Amino acid sequence: HKQMFHDAFEVLDIINEAGHEAFIVGGAVRDYYLNRQIGDIDIASSATPSEIIKLFKDVIPVGIKHGTVIVRYKKKSYEVTTYRTETGYSDYRHPDKVEFVTDILTDLSRRDFTINAMAMDKHFKIEDPFEGKKDIERRLIRTVRNPFERFEEDPLRMMRGLRFSSQLNFKMDIECTEAIHSLHPAIEYIAVERIAVEWEKMFKGENVQYSLRLLFQTNLVNCLPLIKESKQLKRSLLKHQARLFSMAEIVTTFYLYDSSIHINKWAKEWKLSSKAKRNAIILADLINDVERKEALAWIIYRLPKELISSFCRTGELFVDLPAKNMLKYQKNKLPISNRKELALNGNDIISTFPERKQGKWIDSLLLEIEKKVVLGEIDNTKLAIKEWLLHEKK
Ligand code: ATP
Ligand code: MG
Repeated sequence: HKQMFHDAFEVLDIINEAGHEAFIVGGAVRDYYLNRQIGDIDIASSATPSEIIKLFKDVIPVGIKHGTVIVRYKKKSYEVTTYRTETGYSDYRHPDKVEFVTDILTDLSRRDFTINAMAMDKHFKIEDPFEGKKDIERRLIRTVRNPFERFEEDPLRMMRGLRFSSQLNFKMDIECTEAIHSLHPAIEYIAVERIAVEWEKMFKGENVQYSLRLLFQTNLVNCLPLIKESKQLKRSLLKHQARLFSMAEIVTTFYLYDSSIHINKWAKEWKLSSKAKRNAIILADLINDVERKEALAWIIYRLPKELISSFCRTGELFVDLPAKNMLKYQKNKLPISNRKELALNGNDIISTFPERKQGKWIDSLLLEIEKKVVLGEIDNTKLAIKEWLLHEKK
């Protein structure tokens, strides 16, 4: 960890030398005490963005209005944010007013959970006004100050709480759970993309089962798009135990739990990226093919390499699958890896049957040949394929 923080401490030092305060804050401090892999290092400082810009050569002004810049230092990025408070969230999205303040304690008090509201200086000295360290030891998710006020101020925090409880394998504080229960409908004010970010991290977390139980206990489940509408999906979710690593895996799983809600609908209502949507469609199709006892080689052939892990994680909830390494091995052994590698193409088919009018039949014939080659029923040579064509399709 010393090494990990080494460069960050130099950034703090540079800011300190110029006469300003600076601390490492948020997730990095939490993860340091948890002995977890540290992600991004965020810095809070009494310096304003323009003061920070003066101190470093490479600064990206990402959110000057909110007091945030990104400092590039020794090839790493640090988000440096001026001490601030936020008041009023009347649109449930952005605070009405961001006010810069002069002390770290006020800045820490705007943060969501006690475990995220600690600050550390370059000597590993810690500011911990809300007893975040104690909550780390007790493994407890607890809001900074009154949970009812904090969740009302920003309802996304309810979802973030569930996310952290799964990710860190922490329990939710009783009063927080009660607050979420009374305020759960407010989640509907939050943009679905922002919910999806937390949702994805929750499913990726260690204890998704616990967080899903909270989702039901607090009634939040009845305020989430599409999920709230499906009794069948909710029944399956109550029993769901597996970690899922992306929105594509989540939506595939949900679709297979209740196929009456189409993936296109999930994509639309949860504002999925086109890639996530495409991947979910591929995964769901191929898992359905396993269920229909389609030949495994034909399934593996159509499974993109980068989706093999997702296919295994989601597929194993519904069907029997060979181990991941076996799938990879078999994929590498296929006679061809895509249609371009077929020894015969559309033009060859046309010249084999010069008397026939061109049309869709060419494509379906190519598909038929492709499958036969993949399954090893025809050799991938022009000669073998033509022979088959003249014998079978005359
Ligand atoms: P991760 O490791 O997943 O990035 P993190 O704690 O860094 O976890 P972020 O979402 O990156 O979480 O937020 C950084 C910090 O900003 C948090 O630790 C918290 O102090 C504060 N924060 C973020 N979102 C909110 C919010 N909605 N309300 C209050 N404070 C927040
Ligand atoms: Mg972070």
